[in-house]
Amino acid sequence: MLELSLEKAFPGFRLGLELRVEEGEVLALLGPSGSGKSTLLRLIAGLLPPDRGFVRFGELDLTPLPPERRGVGFLFQDYALFPHLTVAENLAFGLVEARWPKAKREARVKELLERMELLPHAKKRPQGLSGGEQQRVALARALAARPRLLLLDEPLGALDLRLREELLLFLRRTLRAEGITTLVVTHDQGEAFLLAHRVAVLREGRLVQVGPPEEVYARPKDAWTARFLGHKNLLSPEESRALGLPPKRHLLPPQALGLGGEVKGVVEERLFFGSRVGLWVRAMGVRLYLEALEGPKEGAEVGLHLDRARAVPLEG
Ligand code: ADP
Ligand code: MG
Repeated sequence: MLELSLEKAFPGFRLGLELRVEEGEVLALLGPSGSGKSTLLRLIAGLLPPDRGFVRFGELDLTPLPPERRGVGFLFQDYALFPHLTVAENLAFGLVEARWPKAKREARVKELLERMELLPHAKKRPQGLSGGEQQRVALARALAARPRLLLLDEPLGALDLRLREELLLFLRRTLRAEGITTLVVTHDQGEAFLLAHRVAVLREGRLVQVGPPEEVYARPKDAWTARFLGHKNLLSPEESRALGLPPKRHLLPPQALGLGGEVKGVVEERLFFGSRVGLWVRAMGVRLYLEALEGPKEGAEVGLHLDRARAVPLEG
């Protein structure tokens, strides 16, 4: 198990948190830009010294060790492939450094080339590959020496949307197949939900909430977290009262709202997304958002089904 307690201050920024990650677990760190995600990974990797605290893996105290002795694999945004080496050589590089015997090295490189669907590119140099292929090489290189811990900082950050989706599923399968304890940073909630066994929401250097994706999404701890996770129906105390809820802040998650019910409303905005439509509906004086496969035109009257038991009271 990875166990850490870390403090680090920069002018105008302070990180302070405690975290445990089970062996083989994928934990996604989710937070807005500047919340301290990269700083945390750099502290764990040993690239940045903490002001206070420790990083332990099982019985082993990593805190005094330099990065190369921590057994940590990382993939950072600005961490480029070696341009003068072939794909296979890029993968073998860390294994040579770690003095793996030749036969073991070759077997591991072959295994990774196969798993990452890079076999046809083994003898090419990185410049000859597409962005997505290069990213797969970088990931394979980070995995090569079977690190006890894998740190990924926005591993899909630089890619366009279609490649992102493709690599996301690839990454998910790979992390699960390798069974390596992983911390993956993203600012994209969908990505975090898909990849991780648990997500940790970071705000201004502090952990706001840690839990399984479905739990964190369905029961965000406060209004800030709910909004950050992409929820749209955040009700003020007055709006809650108008909808027949106790007069305090509530979140109406998507499961609480549907078309076809007794509550009368008018469609104010209809957003066509291709596979679904988004509807902003005014009902009992409150503007509510819901999604459906098909939806009536703007100005149409609709009946809404409102499941008040599924409303989540919010702090703050
Ligand atoms: P994130 O990765 O979540 O976007 P970072 O960890 O990069 O956030 O940064 C968190 C805060 O720490 C930011 O305000 C950033 O400006 C500051 N920061 C990061 N690295 C340094 C540094 N080496 N010196 C001073 N301030 C830094
Ligand atoms: Mg960052």
